[in-house]
Amino acid sequence: MPIDSISVPSAIIGGSSGFKFLESRSAQLDPLGRIATPFGASAPVYRGIDSGLEFLYISRHGDRGYNITASFVNYRANIWALKELGVQRIIAWSGPAAIDPAIEVGEVLVPGDLVDETRRRDYTFFEALGLGFIRQSPTFCPELCGALAAEVSERFGRRRTEDVYVCTEGPRLETVAEIRKFAAYGGTLVGMTLIPEIFLAKELEICYAPICYITNYAEGVRERSFRPGVLFEGLLDDAEKQRVEDSVAAIGEIALAALGKAQGRPRTCKCPSLMERYRRRGDIGQDWRTWIQQTEQNDR
Ligand SMILES: [Zn+2]
Repeated sequence: MPIDSISVPSAIIGGSSGFKFLESRSAQLDPLGRIATPFGASAPVYRGIDSGLEFLYISRHGDRGYNITASFVNYRANIWALKELGVQRIIAWSGPAAIDPAIEVGEVLVPGDLVDETRRRDYTFFEALGLGFIRQSPTFCPELCGALAAEVSERFGRRRTEDVYVCTEGPRLETVAEIRKFAAYGGTLVGMTLIPEIFLAKELEICYAPICYITNYAEGVRERSFRPGVLFEGLLDDAEKQRVEDSVAAIGEIALAALGKAQGRPRTCKCPSLMERYRRRGDIGQDWRTWIQQTEQNDR
């Protein structure tokens, strides 16, 4: 099927275990390949069908294994490709560490806000184009976060929705002093994804909401000796490892359920009008594909 005939409004951007999860559910997953964009080729995109939901899926770090660390993901190509394929809602899967010791390893939650501690990423589609002043409150799409939080409540009987996710550059993990700094300004989670994905999605007026499972405690939060040769060198004990594996399936099911309930419903959030000021001013046209070229032509 030609790419330009595909229009699927729901998407999941998955972490390192996402592809395996979808395969294990025997969901139909048709490869659409890498999509060419003005920012290079996207990661491979799949079109899936699961319990009546049609969705697109991209693995951030590679479909099998962990081939690209968060610093080197082509976020612009991935978000552009999803927009090109008709996506209006993205659920982003992420496995951060807990800074707040009250959070349990394996816990599933919907963060409420972000702090950017990244250093070297491509944060905008609109390089030197005078576009992109977009308000960041609420940070994530409230409609989609609400749908995720409802699923978390239903499954676990409780939910956390106020966590602050600090996004670091990586790929190295954080120092004890860095974690102390993040905790001092209110950070409760630390991870390496979500930024700039969320900001790029907003530039293309796509709803974006994260669903997180806690993979370990951040450095210095719990006393853990260094164990060479294992994941996170001992930041995670064996019982916690099992809980993390269980929560991977849970967040996949929660993401599919939330998208399934939103499917076919019009968006009532503000996400579809985040660029409206520029449209009204005539800086950009109705067709988002022209936003980059059109503004370049205006400059000439
Ligand atoms: Zn929205």
